[in-house]
Amino acid sequence: MTLAQKVLMALAAHELSLQRIKSLTAEIGLHLGRCENRFDLIGPKPANPYPELGDLPWPNGSEEHWRILYDEKGQRRTHMWEAFRSWSDEEDRGLNDDEVSAYLLRQGCVHCTRAWYFVRERKKERRDLGNFRRSLRALGKSAIKALDSLP
Ligand SMILES: [Zn+2]
Repeated sequence: MTLAQKVLMALAAHELSLQRIKSLTAEIGLHLGRCENRFDLIGPKPANPYPELGDLPWPNGSEEHWRILYDEKGQRRTHMWEAFRSWSDEEDRGLNDDEVSAYLLRQGCVHCTRAWYFVRERKKERRDLGNFRRSLRALGKSAIKALDSLP
């Protein structure tokens, strides 16, 4: 394989990896957006007195609902959010990946469990991206040498 072919391959692999990370991030957001953690705290959706005006949003976006559902940084308090803030029973540390999985299984939230699966896939993809970046740098160094040896 020529240097030019190697560069093309590495660039394509790097770009594909970035695209996969982007789509995994979208997937994670989609599933987390469906989590209904703490919806029990805001109560059931009230009957709509004006059905002709269409469906009322619930949660209704009020300050009160916001405080129940989101933290001070504006992050949704999903089961995954809780898992990341949970503490190990045996040691003074947060939960590791396997413990997060177990925690989410106990909560029985299909949305957070799915989101967590995609979070783990994204972690793997980010490791690959790191490898592709190193390949690109190595190819960059080869390219500099190749240019230097041109007449
Ligand atoms: Zn959840």
